[in-house]
Amino acid sequence: MASSNQDDHHMASMGSHSGLPPLNISVAFPQATPASVFPPSSSDYYQFDDLLNPEEQALRKRVRVVMEKEVAPIMAVYWEKAEFPFHVIPKLATLSIAGGTIKGYGCPGLSITASAIATAEVARVDASCSTFILVHSSLAMLTIALCGSEAQKVKYLSSLAKFDTVACWALTEPDYGSDASSLRTTATKVSGGWVLDGQKRWIGNSTFADVLIVFARNTSTNQINGFIVKKGTPGLRVTKIENKIGLRIVQNGDIILNKVFVPDEDRLPGVNSFQDTSKVLAVSRVMVAWQPIGISMGVFDMCNRYLKERKQFGAPLAAFQINQEKLVRMLGNIQAMLLVGWRLCKLYESGKMTAGHASLGKAWTSLKARETVSLGRELLGGNGILADFLVAKAFCDLEPIFTYEGTYDINSMVTAREITGIASFKPAVLGRSSRL
Ligand SMILES: Cc1cc2nc3c(=O)[nH]c(=O)nc-3n(C[C@H](O)[C@H](O)[C@H](O)COP(=O)(O)OP(=O)(O)OC[C@H]3O[C@@H](n4cnc5c(N)ncnc54)[C@H](O)[C@@H]3O)c2cc1C
Repeated sequence: MASSNQDDHHMASMGSHSGLPPLNISVAFPQATPASVFPPSSSDYYQFDDLLNPEEQALRKRVRVVMEKEVAPIMAVYWEKAEFPFHVIPKLATLSIAGGTIKGYGCPGLSITASAIATAEVARVDASCSTFILVHSSLAMLTIALCGSEAQKVKYLSSLAKFDTVACWALTEPDYGSDASSLRTTATKVSGGWVLDGQKRWIGNSTFADVLIVFARNTSTNQINGFIVKKGTPGLRVTKIENKIGLRIVQNGDIILNKVFVPDEDRLPGVNSFQDTSKVLAVSRVMVAWQPIGISMGVFDMCNRYLKERKQFGAPLAAFQINQEKLVRMLGNIQAMLLVGWRLCKLYESGKMTAGHASLGKAWTSLKARETVSLGRELLGGNGILADFLVAKAFCDLEPIFTYEGTYDINSMVTAREITGIASFKPAVLGRSSRL
């Protein structure tokens, strides 16, 4: 639509102002501290820390310090720009958490509880950072550890554990998200290796990953196989997905594989069907279940400080009963989430955890966290929509977590299949005569 002269004048005068930098947030809003100075941890009301052993407690503190000191001051800027802070990787490497529960090959061999606590502490300050680590560690590294050959473990794991190299994990395709087991990317056997053809979507870290774990359908057996593809392999093209509303620091990519040659030595011998990816997903879902817990803890901490600092009607916001009830509801959710997450780890450690247990944990914590962050968003009023005060960012970051590693619905159906014995993924309406 053509604009009038008056509109043109208005646009021009707006343009003349748009180059001005915004007022520093602590000058623009002096009444409350932004999340670049991270609030003290205040959500451990039932003294969950007592359930942790000394190593787990120490790791928790170490991760907390690094995240508050190194990541909190810069996260809003990088989130807003949707860029990855590469200079933070060496600081994360000092924590020795990549590789999580994997023993040997330069990996830390943590208990699953320690690994989970570390995930939560990272997510408390920045969910994108925790997704970066999860994709690298709990998906890609774990696939190599569980399904790789001895030579592959030796070759790849120790540099990944030090973050000298970064990995991604490519299962999802444009046409196959929840229905990932139907994926269409093909792997055709040729002399000395395999040729991969197809497309992947949403793959975290893929725009800069050195090592890409790619799942494809073997054209001879029709089963899913796994491959290690190296950055820069001819025929591999990765482009960044722009305009995300959550986890903006994570670089998600669209991948095109056009006759990508993978030598025999880089085929993962332990991936012979889709069931083999489920083994990895069950463990990584325990880790993902801890992301909503960490996010909720950070939001609670932020609200707890903010409500005491910000005054309206002559009193701190914390003095109003309605605000107090919201704060307590958030706190209650966090206590329950921590106990569910902790029990999940103990079931895993005692060898009793099923896929249904892990799925329930991931689905339920993300549901409770959705309520928690939305209460937090209300409590901060206008600042509840500003990334500088954490809560808006956390609110947005939770949405992709609700959806990835199996949506809330798909994870609920995994658990439901276990307790009812009936799988409900495919609609009954899809009979032969259906025209759906
Ligand atoms: C930020 C982000 C990071 C990601 N990172 C990775 C990664 O690193 N690697 C990777 O491989 N993938 C990754 N994914 C992909 C992710 O796992 C998928 O988005 C997810 O599995 C859902 O698939 P979809 O988006 O295609 O949704 P769809 O499958 O199209 O689902 C849309 C809706 O329909 C519902 N639905 C679908 N099927 C059923 C059913 N049978 N019954 C009831 N409801 C159903 C879903 O619950 C959802 O609400 C990432 C996604 C995001 C958003």
